[in-house]
This record gives sequence, C-alpha cells and structure tokens, in this order.
Amino acid sequence: MILVCSLAFSGYQPSGLLNNISTTQRVVFLTFDDGPKIGVTEPILKILASENVKATFFMVGDNMAKYPDLVEMTYAQGHDVGNHTYDHIRLDNLAGDDLDYQLQETNRVIVDILGKTPRLFRPPGGRFNHMILETLAKYGLIPIGWAINTSDYIEGTNVHLSAAAIQMKVNEVMGAVRENLHPGAIILMHNGNEIGIQALPLVIQYVRSQGYQFRKLSDVL
Ligand SMILES: [Zn+2]
Repeated sequence: MILVCSLAFSGYQPSGLLNNISTTQRVVFLTFDDGPKIGVTEPILKILASENVKATFFMVGDNMAKYPDLVEMTYAQGHDVGNHTYDHIRLDNLAGDDLDYQLQETNRVIVDILGKTPRLFRPPGGRFNHMILETLAKYGLIPIGWAINTSDYIEGTNVHLSAAAIQMKVNEVMGAVRENLHPGAIILMHNGNEIGIQALPLVIQYVRSQGYQFRKLSDVL
C-alpha cells in the first residue's frame, strides 16, 4: 500500500487554488461536485463502494439541507464532504456578508448533519480571487481546484440525453483522463447525470491499469 506523506501538508497555508497534490507517487484524487442529487449520488456511491475507492464530495448547502440522508450516507461510507457554497453561486462577484453567508451557512448545514466542520472547499466554476482566499482562511477552509476536468456535465437541468450522446460524452471523459493523468492529480467529476455514472467505472479501471491508486483529499490535507 502506498502511503502519501501527510506531514508535508500539516499546517498547510494555501496561497491559491490547489490543483495537484505534490507527490511523485502514482496517486490521484477523485472529486465529485454539486451533490447530493437523488438518483445520481446513490449509484456513484455504489460504484465507489464496489471498487473500494474513497473520494471527496464538494456538496451544495441547499442540496444538503434537502437531502441530509445522502450526505450522511456519503460520509458514513468513508468519503470526504466539503463545502461548495450554499447556492452554487460564483463567488467572484460577492463580497462582505454575502460571501461569508455562502461559506458559513454551508458549514452550518454540514455541522448540523455530520457534527463535523468541513476543511475543504471548492469554488463553483473555479472562480477565485484574493478576497475569497482571505475569507476562506477565516473558516479554516482549504481551496481546492482540479488538474483534470473530465467534463462529465452538460449545461441545463433535466436535459434528455440519448444513449449515443451519453456514449460520446463518456468518450470525452476518458480522453481527458488519458491525456492528463499524472501523480497527485485532482480529478473533477460531478454528481450530475448519467454521463458520470457510466464513465466512473471506466475511469477507475483505466487509472488503476496505469498503476495508480485513489486517495481522498483528507488523507493528505
Ligand atoms: Zn459546482
């Protein structure tokens, strides 16, 4: 079993978005944004459990307040639950109380459900600036970006996807992973739709075939 050295990151002081974990070891970090979502979070958890992979979920406060059972289920299965704002709003247009609210209210929901304050944060759309960094520091939140964007999402809600369209997007996901896989990469996926559900087993299989192991971010941060 590969052990990623966590000492290097104790007391880690972020100076920007963390897109990679600095390591030469063949480990990568799966992350899932935007959940919990009924009908998507459950099958993703099922795949992760059957493959014995632990991951990091960046969840939206409003969704967590609606579906606390899914948050509990995710955490109980050994995954990280991080803050992804309350309303999935782009933070770079906010300041003052509005910015604080998005972070604080989401933390509050996580504490209500899990009894634990989150340490990991991902800004919607990767939108980030110095004011956000300073505000995150107040809450002890580490800003996480990504090194590999699988593009497993589609614009709009409840968009119907044909089997052929899903297959095409799954191929894109695999292309992104194949081209960009490297030690310490943080991989962006979503709790969004059928694309991610169908791509996930293939992503896991491919990453392992290249000699990599999966870790969750709290293992090293
Ligand atoms: Zn998001």
